[in-house]
Amino acid sequence: MLLVQNLSVSYRSFTALNDVSCTFDAGELVGIFGPNGSGKSTMVKAMLGLIRSATGTVLLKGKPLTHQLSQVAYVPQRSQIDWDYPVTVWNVAMMSRTLQTGLFRQPSRQSRERVKAALERVGMYEYRDRSISDLSGGQQQRVFLAGALAKEAELLILDEPFAAVDRKTESIMFEIFSELKAQAKTLLVISHDLGEILGHYDRMLLLNKRVIAQGSRYEVMTKDNLLAAYDAPVRFIAA
Ligand code: ADP
Ligand code: MG
Repeated sequence: MLLVQNLSVSYRSFTALNDVSCTFDAGELVGIFGPNGSGKSTMVKAMLGLIRSATGTVLLKGKPLTHQLSQVAYVPQRSQIDWDYPVTVWNVAMMSRTLQTGLFRQPSRQSRERVKAALERVGMYEYRDRSISDLSGGQQQRVFLAGALAKEAELLILDEPFAAVDRKTESIMFEIFSELKAQAKTLLVISHDLGEILGHYDRMLLLNKRVIAQGSRYEVMTKDNLLAAYDAPVRFIAA
């Protein structure tokens, strides 16, 4: 489905990502783990062509991913976005449909129905006229997920969707991930919290600039791998 080959990224002379190769299958939820600054966000941004100084190949169904961005729904890390401007929940969720709708056209009835259904699915339809900046972190994250759902993409990439969210949001998100997997979607979810329920993930990728390990959580969450990734034995307790 999705193939990443020899992906490297440098910011000036600093190498943030070094020769990362991995594959992701349809119907699979893959967790990308690693400490802060290990290149997780950099990896997905490079995959999507959002970072220039990247080398490597990223193919979706055999063709460059960057030529098929309509097939991808990407939710950036919340801390990297300034959500202080007064845009409504409805418009945030509708943004993802812009490709289908065209920037200056009225959204089609189909787009409106998709966005409504997606907001209902995450329990945020009643909030549609509220400003995104007035919501809690968990509510914001659910609105972004609704936008991703409304896009009806093959591949969903979420950067730290569980950071500072409430239990309710967390369980809604994992429920939705299961539904998407049943529809053969591919899900990449970045996290740095090993205290999370790792059993949700079909596979894990452990990153620290390079791939430390990938595979089942039993293959990945070994003492040696965690030491290599986190440089801190205390983390064994969390795992
Ligand atoms: P993670 O998402 O795993 O926390 P990032 O991908 O955000 O890590 O960052 C990886 C490394 O690259 C960090 O050391 C970070 O400081 C650096 N970095 C990220 N973005 C930039 C940038 N735009 N310019 C320079 N360095 C950056
Ligand atoms: Mg990050």
